[in-house]
Amino acid sequence: SYQGMSKERLLEIRKQNCHPMTMKVTYYRQPVFIHQGHMQWLWDVDGKRYLDLFAGVATVSVGHCHPRVNEAAVKQLKHLWHTTAIYIHPQIQEYAEKLVSLLPEPLKVVYLTNSGSEANDLAMLMARLHTGNYDIITLRGSYHGGSPMTMGLTSRTDYKYPVASGFGCHNTMCPDVFRGVWGGSHCRDSPVQTIRECNCSAGHCQANDRYIEQLKEMFDTTVPHRIAAFFGEPIQGVGGAVQYPKNYLKETYKLVREKGGICIADEVQTGFGRTGSHFWGFQGHDIIPDMVTMAKGIANGFPMGAVVTTEEIARPFGKGLHFNTFGGNPVACAIASSVLDTIAEDRLQENCAMVGTYLLTELAKLRDKYEIIGDVRGKGLQIGVEMVTDKASCKPLSPEAMAEIFEDTKDMGVLIGKGGIYGQTFRIKPPMCITKDDADFFLAVFDQALQNYMDRR
Ligand code: PMP
Repeated sequence: SYQGMSKERLLEIRKQNCHPMTMKVTYYRQPVFIHQGHMQWLWDVDGKRYLDLFAGVATVSVGHCHPRVNEAAVKQLKHLWHTTAIYIHPQIQEYAEKLVSLLPEPLKVVYLTNSGSEANDLAMLMARLHTGNYDIITLRGSYHGGSPMTMGLTSRTDYKYPVASGFGCHNTMCPDVFRGVWGGSHCRDSPVQTIRECNCSAGHCQANDRYIEQLKEMFDTTVPHRIAAFFGEPIQGVGGAVQYPKNYLKETYKLVREKGGICIADEVQTGFGRTGSHFWGFQGHDIIPDMVTMAKGIANGFPMGAVVTTEEIARPFGKGLHFNTFGGNPVACAIASSVLDTIAEDRLQENCAMVGTYLLTELAKLRDKYEIIGDVRGKGLQIGVEMVTDKASCKPLSPEAMAEIFEDTKDMGVLIGKGGIYGQTFRIKPPMCITKDDADFFLAVFDQALQNYMDRR
């Protein structure tokens, strides 16, 4: 049991000395003091147990303190903590080989970093060096990092600061099937569809045509003739599990390549089996990116990121001297390697498909029951529940109302996340080991929290 400082003292230190978030919020009205974790469970300092459906934002992939991963970490810690990639050490090469075996040709050159922002920084640099072009396009509502360079890719006001960042970055309209201006409700790749009206005829999405026209217009008006890259998440994470019309990424990749740019899939949240149907999110879009960036789930919460690209794209980068002290250190590689083994051995991708589809289907029933759920979407265990004031207007539910439901869900023992550009989406992205019973527990809790809110309203 926890024997450390009192909660009051911890909160005082947090307020005075820790973490910039302190100035704003502690996420919950009554903050959670996390002490310990095991698989899909977290315990607070008072010994209260929570079902963790946020997993440190889709980061704890195989489960908190998974015994097999812990064993691999401890083994490596006893053997060798650190050496840089200037030496050949088995862990980095073994890991690189394992990782590329999971990606299609010609993606086979791996760079290891310490975070997703670092990976995307590197991806931007490599794209610019390879193409000789500068401009980069991302989708509005996306999150690709908080470093001065990636802040330009990130297209969300709340993560922006008024500093010189994002030269050459352009954020195009997000083809959001639910909230976007052109709808497209029956076009997305998800076990559940939206309940909004849609003009699409069978097999052809008119909304997609509109979004692609908009992108073409951007090419004609906003960027130089040649561009360096397009960055896209297969499903937007921080954006609130936003999904695009089915062929959007495929057609966008074609247009981007015609403009001289390379296509980069940000798999920081969607990779490593989370979407269930595929190991990588991009595979659900029938595309092969020129570069893939990863982090978060790659090492189950241990700091690590990666960029994987082709030999041809990597070549000009080799002309300079790239150095990253911690990127790909032996402990991170040993953990990441064990994560890949665990995903396969525990059949976690299959579990994401099974539990995720069940959750989506059951959440859609809650959507039909409650006026304040506008949309349920996602794939596997990357799920968004979009909250609205009412189904007719689809206005985002207020932050106060969101906070009430959120707090109630937490008090009943389940941690979920919030996202979306108005903070209107509940996000569910648990450790990939959750069971159907866990899903049932969450569904009961969430149903009750919604009912409590409706009763008070
Ligand atoms: N890309 C995506 C899709 C992300 O969700 C995040 C983090 N939320 C990042 C990049 C940045 O990763 P990091 O916080 O490790 O820098």
